Amino acid sequence: MFTNPFAILDQFPRVELAHLPTPIEPLLNFSAALGGPEIFVKRDDQTGLATGGNKTRKLEFLIAQALGQEADCVITAGSTQSNHARQTAAGAARYGLASHLVLYAPGGEPPTQLNGNLLLMQLIGAHFHWTAERAPYTDTIAQVEADLRAADRRPYVIPYGGSNPFGAFGYAVAMREFAAQARGLPAFDTHIIATSSGGTQAGMTLGMHLTGLDDTGELLGISVDQQAGELAPRVAHLARAAAEELELDWHPDPALIEINDDYLGDGYAVVSDAEREAIHLLAQHEGLLLDPVYTGRAFAGLIDLVRRGAFTRGQRILFWHTGGSAALFSFAHHLGLDDNTPGTT
Ligand SMILES: *Cc1c(COP(=O)(O)O)cnc(C)c1O
Repeated sequence: MFTNPFAILDQFPRVELAHLPTPIEPLLNFSAALGGPEIFVKRDDQTGLATGGNKTRKLEFLIAQALGQEADCVITAGSTQSNHARQTAAGAARYGLASHLVLYAPGGEPPTQLNGNLLLMQLIGAHFHWTAERAPYTDTIAQVEADLRAADRRPYVIPYGGSNPFGAFGYAVAMREFAAQARGLPAFDTHIIATSSGGTQAGMTLGMHLTGLDDTGELLGISVDQQAGELAPRVAHLARAAAEELELDWHPDPALIEINDDYLGDGYAVVSDAEREAIHLLAQHEGLLLDPVYTGRAFAGLIDLVRRGAFTRGQRILFWHTGGSAALFSFAHHLGLDDNTPGTT
């Protein structure tokens, strides 16, 4: 018997957090200036939750899981300027859940500056648990969970990046949303995203399979912090795990998960000339705000690929803007802006 996997997906609990559908906009000035393909953006930076971003779509499923398990709080983890932790705190607040955020800082010492995403997390009333442990933060999360249970709390653990099968559902559904928007338009040759914990790419891969979009276009993840050889199997595994929840006999091949790891530079959140150029170009040609860690790096990668001739005139590229501009407010120094007098350039 034929069952539409999306019909099964739609049976999973989901809360409302995001402003959907997010618009698709052409970058006319920027594309002309670059002189290559026509570049469009899918504005997932405008999902609306406490300045928005890609984690909001994942959290519609993740917060619903937490409520379904009668949790009274959520735990998640990320870096000091985590967009994911900020959106999780906001989504939890909206549904009456406390949020416990395991945040990385060097030495596990709380930073002295309250700005960017961290300021928003504090404003929302999140509880901070500082750690020197790096992603996936497994030990610290387990400790915080044990402490909360010992205090008779009922935590629901959201993995870092919100990247589990339920989080990935958010991006399978996003692909369906895109397919409906794109009906009647010329096809996009390539979808590009900044990829890190892999849940977004996994969900989009599943969504392209379910909508048949994988016949006409490709999906390229530009890695911000991981080697392709490590991340591709994780993306394939996550996509498989999400498909399994939908009783789908589909086994994505890690070799077909496209990840470019040429732009890792000096590591996570280390801003170089390439990110600076991308952030300034998009701001000045389009009034579009990228972020210093994810979309700044991925867009810098896209610019480099166009300059190298990987994409050419006449092709159509859709860059999924996954958000993060709140972090700009903690990166003035890295953007080369803190020694400028306002009003001069
Ligand atoms: C988390 C994040 C990503 C990466 O998404 P993953 O699902 O972790 O791969 C990309 N861009 C921004 C702005 C993010 O916050």
